[in-house]
Amino acid sequence: MRLTRYYLPVLKETPSEAQIASHQLMLRAGMIRQESAGIYAWLPLGFRVLKKIEQIVREEQDRAGAVEMLMPTIQSAELWRESGRYEAYGKEMLRIKDRADREMLFGPTNEEMITEIFRAGVRSYKDLPKMLYHIQWKFRDEVRPRFGVMRGREFLMKDTYSFDADSAGARASYNKMFVAYLRTFARMGLTSIPMRADTGPIGGDLSHEFIVLAETGESAVFCDRKLLDLAVPGADTDFDSDLQPVIDRYTSYYAATEEKHDAAEFEAKVAKGDRIAARGIEVGHIFYFGEKYSAPMRAMITGPDGKDRPVEMGSYGVGVSRLAGALIEAYHDEAGCKWPVAVAPFHVGLINLKQGDAGTDGACAKAYAALEAAGVDVLYDDTASRPGEKFARMDLIGLPFQLIIGPRGLEAGKVEVKRRADGHRDEVSLDAALDMLKRDVRSALKI
Ligand code: ATP
Ligand code: MG
Repeated sequence: MRLTRYYLPVLKETPSEAQIASHQLMLRAGMIRQESAGIYAWLPLGFRVLKKIEQIVREEQDRAGAVEMLMPTIQSAELWRESGRYEAYGKEMLRIKDRADREMLFGPTNEEMITEIFRAGVRSYKDLPKMLYHIQWKFRDEVRPRFGVMRGREFLMKDTYSFDADSAGARASYNKMFVAYLRTFARMGLTSIPMRADTGPIGGDLSHEFIVLAETGESAVFCDRKLLDLAVPGADTDFDSDLQPVIDRYTSYYAATEEKHDAAEFEAKVAKGDRIAARGIEVGHIFYFGEKYSAPMRAMITGPDGKDRPVEMGSYGVGVSRLAGALIEAYHDEAGCKWPVAVAPFHVGLINLKQGDAGTDGACAKAYAALEAAGVDVLYDDTASRPGEKFARMDLIGLPFQLIIGPRGLEAGKVEVKRRADGHRDEVSLDAALDMLKRDVRSALKI
């Protein structure tokens, strides 16, 4: 992409309404624009990040055996009356009336709708298990929308729903999502910690929030430092095998959010030097709730004994748009974002230090074509801006690599490659730089 054709409205000043780094940087780097409180337009650069996050989430859901679909954002109130949640949901639900005065709503989540879809199509235990998911915008009229996309009112969520014939099957589905979530966040460069979470009136131990540690996180969390070093299950994980040992390994260490924290247990179980009391961002939540919706909504299946019973369900959410903010909280410095390759809006920022110079223009054109042909995404700063401005803008948007080409370097047969993560610079020939960039981008994407 050529910057002269792109839309990248960067801001020099930090907007005063933004309190945390990710919100400030998303506004400054021209990734988002607030349209109403908690409602954002995703500008081209932010949209690319959102799509990268979404794609990783999708690939790991597919790998775990979940099947993608798409449900509408607008739902009918009737459906929510069946589960009893229409009244219970309160002011967080955006309620709408259509022209015939029918009560509708903008979906805050989809348990009711998926239960309705399931009951229309599945009758027997022989058709189970099933896991269905979609990636769709949700609306929750939060009391305090804040921190940009971290707590929006309109936000993008991946929500999966599992259907099983019995509780053993439901646990197996839960375990698949547990492992899929560990992999999903790790692929983005995030260390997520599954923490015991509230199960509500259903009880049991099958509810975990996936937390990324960050000073600006909204949740107070407590956990064992050893959790940060556990090896994440690999891409060769067999999701049809028994995953319980993986879950047992993670849950053998103490990890709980404030609501479930037990100070005495924390101190008894975790060595003093390993105790982490910190803040975190909830990026995902997995939850088994059995017959909570299937019983009142009559989503029945016939078991092997010929008897009908409500299907066992669970739901599993990932905050796709929240992750864009969480990633910046984890990867930034004074100058701007520092995107991991896997979620970077572009891999390489190509800087032409003297636009209009035949030599630099030619070298940049060659680099741009060669990298694009190799599947490396390039943002080519072909503007007439001064070098200082180009450097600052590139650091702000935080692409993992910069390829800097100027007339003086070219005379000496050199270009410069800068790594945004640690500021490391290499001065090499253009061909060597292209090889280096292709190799580094490819190896970073292979996980
Ligand atoms: P929170 O406790 O942060 O309000 P929640 O428990 O209400 O979240 P869930 O219903 O579990 O949220 O939704 C699944 C995921 O969607 C959450 O783990 C979070 O990552 C994301 N999410 C929830 N609410 C928001 C929001 N207002 N803005 C952005 N992402 C959100
Ligand atoms: Mg939650």
